[in-house]
Amino acid sequence: MKVIRSLALCSLLAVAGNAFAADKVCKLEISGNDQMQFDKKELAVAADCTQVELTLKHTGKLPAQAMGHNWVLSKTPDQAGVASDGIGAGFANDHIKKGDTRVIAHTKIVGGGQTTSITFPTSALKKGESYTYICSFPGHSSLMKGAFKFG
Ligand code: ZN
Repeated sequence: MKVIRSLALCSLLAVAGNAFAADKVCKLEISGNDQMQFDKKELAVAADCTQVELTLKHTGKLPAQAMGHNWVLSKTPDQAGVASDGIGAGFANDHIKKGDTRVIAHTKIVGGGQTTSITFPTSALKKGESYTYICSFPGHSSLMKGAFKFG
């Protein structure tokens, strides 16, 4: 029993600061292109995932200032407000209003050929709630959006 306990402690310490031993990190991938489109209209995360690692890849060639893409998650009813406030927030802020509490998670803006990823906890998500992800680059969210499902 003592051996098992110290082994468990070791593995816990090994990952401390990043994630707990019981964490289940679920990986998602999505890409955006020069035609202002995401390649997926829906992303789903199972209820037993404790963390989501999302990777956004820009498969196009255009620079971020012309055809930038990010990935911004909010509750579906908040999506329009997040997008409209994001326009005024400016490129330097990744087109996310500073301190916007409606934003559950977001990546930075990337341009053609670039990839970025984020990890966020599912503790901010509720089963059965309707979530939507968008690209908040000005003018993109009407085309670049999808449903995000948890549970
Ligand atoms: Zn975009």
